[in-house]
Amino acid sequence: MNEDDSERMLRLLEGAQYVETQEPREANLILINTCSVREKPEHKVYSALGRFKRLKENRKTVIGVAGCVAQQEGERLLDRVPYLDLVIGTQAIHLLPELVQTVETKGQRVCVTELDAEGKYLIAPRPQRGKGKVKSYVTIMQGCDHFCSFCIVPYVRGRERSRPSEEVVEEVKHLAGIGIKEVCLLGQNVNSYGKGKDGGLDFPSLLRRIDEITGIERIRFTTSHPEDFSNALIRSFSELSTLCEHIHLPFQSGSDRILKRMHRGYTRASYLERVDRLREACPSIAITADVIVGFPGEEDKDFGETLDLMAQVRFDDLFSFKYSPRKGTRAAEFEDRVEDNVKQGRLSILQSMQKEITLQKNQILEGTTQEVLVEGRSKQGDRDVTGRTRSNKIVNVQGDLNLAGSFIPVRIVKAFPHSLRGEFVE
Ligand code: SAM
Ligand code: SF4
Repeated sequence: MNEDDSERMLRLLEGAQYVETQEPREANLILINTCSVREKPEHKVYSALGRFKRLKENRKTVIGVAGCVAQQEGERLLDRVPYLDLVIGTQAIHLLPELVQTVETKGQRVCVTELDAEGKYLIAPRPQRGKGKVKSYVTIMQGCDHFCSFCIVPYVRGRERSRPSEEVVEEVKHLAGIGIKEVCLLGQNVNSYGKGKDGGLDFPSLLRRIDEITGIERIRFTTSHPEDFSNALIRSFSELSTLCEHIHLPFQSGSDRILKRMHRGYTRASYLERVDRLREACPSIAITADVIVGFPGEEDKDFGETLDLMAQVRFDDLFSFKYSPRKGTRAAEFEDRVEDNVKQGRLSILQSMQKEITLQKNQILEGTTQEVLVEGRSKQGDRDVTGRTRSNKIVNVQGDLNLAGSFIPVRIVKAFPHSLRGEFVE
């Protein structure tokens, strides 16, 4: 979502005649878009600001902070960082050009963190060209009403708000028109898309509308919360040809006791039951998830249940995190914290187990032919291009850059933990 917000900010600034540079020393404006979901990314903001400080000494560079840390800290950021010019909260993105102008012309320091009741922050100019991109994010909703006890998102992104379906559909049509082949629909909990909007589309109906758009060959979405996971959504995987066989379905813990304290709203058994139903409807579906270790009160037995759930599901991949207390959330008040060395030990065990499973899952694809959407040059070398399978696995294959945007059949010759190597099938 931050990546998509950064893109939207870029487009807003392009409309105000700004030109992107990769070189901070050349910039008249540096905006740091931030995440506060865990402590580590929050710290990175301050070290980035420290690095950019000296640029101000030689040039009148405007420095701003956007995103969740901006929303959370507000004026405190201006107090703490005297050379910071602009703090722009999560629901003020649409104001960016005029706020930058205020800083530049009036020399004022500006901070805007008010929540925007009208939802204007969800609107952004459309890209006029694809810039060689073959896939794009499309934010369909923002905010969250779930209030999981560990999570800062509802406080920094506000309550759930869906974009009108017509607007989303028009945007996707526009993207198809500039050559985008794959869209990933974004929201903290896409399952509740359209909730509370009389007569609007729900999420499975929105998927169906997007599936009909000529030129869009692949649809993905993230993130889906296991609690409101409907049968209609499960059916979409078998019914919609463009919906890719991959789902990201965070489980967070395998222990019912911990899930309850996390306020997740489902049990281990109901999570497993959803996985079964998904695999029944779409046997080839790849499943990835998020998991947290060391949540307050997590004992060895609870952690054992997390490993056990992983062994049962055999996820294609996992994003795993040490619990990080977030000020203002309910879990930050829990006193039975887990020591950091215990968290670290559990994380290492979990990650090495998952690495093995991911490799085994990838090895199953050796010898098969997969449809790969070529995205561009591979990091592996100049002679290779990179792309993804429908199940979202990275494939590197020898080929020319002008294949970007094409769907090519690739025979998988070797599996690695994070990618696959393939050969172009003539
Ligand atoms: N809305 C998504 C859901 O509920 O599945 C998750 C969005 S959250 C921004 C991304 C992931 O960050 C979560 O799934 C969780 O695993 C992790 N996360 C959130 N808060 C955390 C915390 N305080 N400590 C560690 N990990 C956290
Ligand atoms: Fe955070 Fe996701 Fe829970 Fe919402 S559903 S509070 S975004 S973890």
